[in-house]
Amino acid sequence: MSRSRFVQQAMGLGPQWQAREGWFDQHPAELEKQALLQTAQVQQAEMAATISSLEPEQPSTPMPAVELPRSANLPPVAVNVTTAPVSAPEAANPAILISPAVEVAIPSWDQLEQNVANCQRCQLCNTRSQTVFGRGNPQARWMLIGEAPGEHEDRQGEPFVGKAGQLLDNMLAAAGLDRDRDVYIANVLKCRPPGNRNPAPEEILACQDYLQQQIRHVQPTLILALGRFAVQTLLQTEQTIGRLRGQLHQYQGIPLIATYHPAYLLRNLPDKAKAWQDMVLAKQQFARLSQSV
Ligand code: SF4
Repeated sequence: MSRSRFVQQAMGLGPQWQAREGWFDQHPAELEKQALLQTAQVQQAEMAATISSLEPEQPSTPMPAVELPRSANLPPVAVNVTTAPVSAPEAANPAILISPAVEVAIPSWDQLEQNVANCQRCQLCNTRSQTVFGRGNPQARWMLIGEAPGEHEDRQGEPFVGKAGQLLDNMLAAAGLDRDRDVYIANVLKCRPPGNRNPAPEEILACQDYLQQQIRHVQPTLILALGRFAVQTLLQTEQTIGRLRGQLHQYQGIPLIATYHPAYLLRNLPDKAKAWQDMVLAKQQFARLSQSV
């Protein structure tokens, strides 16, 4: 007997009222409360299902990690740096406009080479012997970019052959660089302009994304731009090489050194010394950039 019941009996208050087992569960008020609770749970479940049907579907496989370019983590450069504008300046020569790279998926290296080989985007496909995709090591940390194939390149399918190519090889060798191991060489245009004329604006525009895709594949630490067209195209400027050389520029975040084209140096021997100075500057910058990666 509980203490409270003992006290009640002792005081003559008789037995305490006891509810039958299950009395509370069957009480009308309790039944109504349970019914309301069930209705609320059903409404809650229906609302959750409606919300989940409005959410975008999640991919069944995780997105692949985006690999940053090898030059993306480079620290700020402490020397005189100019940066190519993202959008074309109004004063720029339309012949040298090149749009910034768009972060979209790019074809594989082999597919890219095949795309170039089959390309008919501009009129140069009618006069070329073959396309000239590039040459060298696609994993190289140096990328050399020239203007367009000449007569020898068009015939052999490689950039920088003939006397200009030999001069470039000699300069690379003097700098301790091997053409096939340490650098990748490409041109702004992949097809030869007839008679070695200057590239036309529409030809550069038609061909520009091939070069951009090559650069994104190679991810060079340093670009050496050879000759006026390559330099002006990449930096979107009309300034001369004489004004642009001797300093570090940027092409879409990649350090770039401007220098003369080997074919020009064959005709202008006094500028060979300047080209060598540019190569020395490029070596110094490359060493500095490599240390800081
Ligand atoms: S120059 Fe470039 S765009 Fe023109 S046909 Fe050759 S690969 Fe195509």
